Amino acid sequence: MGMSELKAALADAYANSAEPKFLSVAENGDELWSMGSAMFVLPAVPAGAPPEMEYALRVRRAAVLSGTCDECNASLNADPFGRLEGVEAVAAIIPHRRNCPASDENLLPQLQRFREHRKSTSTEDIFAAASRATRLSVEAKTPLRRMIRNRKFESWVRRLLDQKLAESTGECGHLHVDPAQTWNILLGDTEWKCDQCWEYQGLEIIRGNSPISTQEDFTCDHCRTVKDELEPLILRVGTFVLHGGLCRTCSKRSMETTEKPRRKKNGAKRRGRR
Ligand SMILES: [Zn+2]
Ligand SMILES: [Zn+2]
Ligand SMILES: [Zn+2]
Repeated sequence: MGMSELKAALADAYANSAEPKFLSVAENGDELWSMGSAMFVLPAVPAGAPPEMEYALRVRRAAVLSGTCDECNASLNADPFGRLEGVEAVAAIIPHRRNCPASDENLLPQLQRFREHRKSTSTEDIFAAASRATRLSVEAKTPLRRMIRNRKFESWVRRLLDQKLAESTGECGHLHVDPAQTWNILLGDTEWKCDQCWEYQGLEIIRGNSPISTQEDFTCDHCRTVKDELEPLILRVGTFVLHGGLCRTCSKRSMETTEKPRRKKNGAKRRGRR
């Protein structure tokens, strides 16, 4: 295949607005995408990336997958570099302008700083930061939160997490490569997903491709009763986020405190009477 045919194949994929499809994560953390008959290797957005760097990486990725950069208008310049395991390979080069956030000049030093910073941070601190980021993200996505106050429910949550971890059949490639990030799971499913793969799964569910049965979808995750309507349930323990549903009865009970109301100390009482 010559350069012109490769370019034609890519142009074809863009022209037919073939939908980019995320395939998998390579051992080095790069992502594999397909679009029409073309396949792309794209850098993943690393977990814990600062917002500016994450944005630059997303602009860069979108530019490759659409053929044009939204920020600087640069368009794709394919450069074939031979065969990779029998597959004709192309380096998709987008000559971003210097002031584009996705340009090498802007992005590469950020990536290097990020990697150096991670190397000099202890595993403990990296996980603590991931746990903090998970909390902030759950708080941002669910502004109306009600806390579980019932002790019995609290221990149920811990048992549930242990059970989900024990029965897990796997995790997405991103989590496999870097576990220091948010782990999402749909109660009823057995595969953990990073935030990005969780978003893809959400889109698939909207399209009718849910990993769980309709029956499971309408089953209360606490009492296992099937109900017409469930209240959404989001449980976070450290970096783990469990998504499911509770029936009204269980939801109400989970918020009732089990502790006896505390009596005022005698001293306080006496002072009050004076
Ligand atoms: Zn650009
Ligand atoms: Zn993932
Ligand atoms: Zn219930």
